[in-house]
Amino acid sequence: MSARLILLGPPGAGKGTQAEKISQKLGIPAISTGDIFRANVAERTELGRTAQRYMDAGEYVPDEVTNAMVADRLAADDAREGFRRDGDPRTEAQVEELDRMLAAAGVELDAVVELTADNDEVVARLLNRAQEQGRADDTESVIRRRLEVYAEQTEPLVRIYTERGLLIEVDGLGEIDDVTTRLLAALEEKLGR
Ligand code: AMP
Repeated sequence: MSARLILLGPPGAGKGTQAEKISQKLGIPAISTGDIFRANVAERTELGRTAQRYMDAGEYVPDEVTNAMVADRLAADDAREGFRRDGDPRTEAQVEELDRMLAAAGVELDAVVELTADNDEVVARLLNRAQEQGRADDTESVIRRRLEVYAEQTEPLVRIYTERGLLIEVDGLGEIDDVTTRLLAALEEKLGR
């Protein structure tokens, strides 16, 4: 099935986890800027060195760096028919760039899913993930900063996509499989499939 989807939601809402499930279910490639940045940090590329400073502080990597990287990924063959993004767009400038790329390819987004979860819950989840995975940006002070940055820079995107009639809000609290079931039901309704 071809679908072009975006997942929004604060850090810790479960975007990455749910995104994997949707990709498997719908057979569409996953694009996660966070994962691509982390792979570059691990491989010590120039992009990785640039990105790491921002990631460690809980700040967003500058738009021009992120947009160039995303353009590369979107040009890959497997992303032509459909994609599911859980890492971008995160700023209005990234929305504009994505709009340009989609228009150039003559395609449109199908839906934008906002995964919701309150602050206390996401902080608890991320502190738990810190113990399990040891991610450098999962310390409490950096987590708080990431939540602030999300509220300032990414939450405005909810209004933009609501106005375009693309937004679906899904409650991210509860068991992983229950959230997936809710999400897929909401998507099927939206996509009319
Ligand atoms: P994530 O894995 O989605 O939590 O992303 C981890 C970090 O990567 C973020 O805190 C940012 O520093 C950076 N990052 C990921 N995606 C973006 C994006 N679209 N724009 C800017 N920075 C990003």
